[in-house]
Order: sequence, then C-alpha cells, then structure tokens
Amino acid sequence: MNKAVFLDRDGTLTRDVPYCSRPEDLHLLPTVAEGLALLNRFPYKIILITNQSGIARGYFDEVALASIHTKLKDDICREGGRLDAIYYCPHHPQSGCHCRKPETGMIEMAARDWGLDLADSYFIGDKYLDIEAANRSGCKAVLVPSEAPETQTLQGDWSYPGRIEFVGRDFLAAVNWLTKEAK
Ligand SMILES: [Zn+2]
Repeated sequence: MNKAVFLDRDGTLTRDVPYCSRPEDLHLLPTVAEGLALLNRFPYKIILITNQSGIARGYFDEVALASIHTKLKDDICREGGRLDAIYYCPHHPQSGCHCRKPETGMIEMAARDWGLDLADSYFIGDKYLDIEAANRSGCKAVLVPSEAPETQTLQGDWSYPGRIEFVGRDFLAAVNWLTKEAK
C-alpha cells in the first residue's frame, strides 16, 4: 500500500486570503517550497485536501479554482516539490456534505484512488478542522499554527480532545519532524 502526506491549503501552504479567487492572489508561505522539496525525496503521495465553499457561495467557479491550482502546482514544481493530487470540497458548510473537513470524504476518496494506508499517512494543517479530519480518518495529525484566531485558541486549549502528533513552528519544521519520525 501507499502512504500519503495530506496537506491543507489556506494558512498551511499559502497565505490565507479569504475566498481567494485569482491566481495572482495566491502566495506560498515562507518555508513551504523548501519543505515540499524535502518531502519530495520521501516515498509519500503528496495530496492537497481543501475546503472551497467560495464555489457554493458564488464567489468564484471551478474554472477559476482550476487556474489557481495550476499556479499553485507550478510554484511548487519550480522549487523542486510536487503535488500528486488535489481534492476540494465546493459545498456550503450547511450543505451536510460528507467531504467538507472535518468530515472525512476527501481523505477516504484519496485513499481509494491511491491505495493508501491511512494509519501510515499524515495530515499537516493549521486549523482545528484539519486535526479533527485527520483524527477521524485515522491518519497522524501535524499542526502548523497560522495566524488564524481559532488556531491560537487551539494552541492554548489543553482540553482539546483530539490527538496531535507534532506542532511545528512552520511548514519546514513539520516536514523535518515527519521525515525523521516516519520510518
Ligand atoms: Zn463537500
């Protein structure tokens, strides 16, 4: 079976621009390119898992999202990294769909598509819902706290019932830990 590192997009790989609708507004966070180039040397499928409710809200369409993701892949490839696949949820938070994180539909779909052993896979994200999706689907959760207020709450919230394997100072720190921990 294969194993994967799942990645959140906004606030983890890229600067968190609410409802980013144009490729030129998408920017990799510091250390992300270096972290992905390092990860590229290890035997993991690298899979983006992102909630994009801006589609259901009518802020942008799937064509615009595709052009944003083309730029994302190009920016990553130029620095020696790669993305094997991108899964996104276009639905509204109130739609009750099974794909929007912290639901596990996108992770399960990726597991089927790529023959993944989720127990040997990781999820790197900056928000509570990433950690929860990782916990629910049985992969290991790595937190890279962003500026998001909800993450700051999470950092100080010792009553959080979820399981976090590692908290990274930034994306590269998370990848460094992961590549040493995973044997
Ligand atoms: Zn959905």
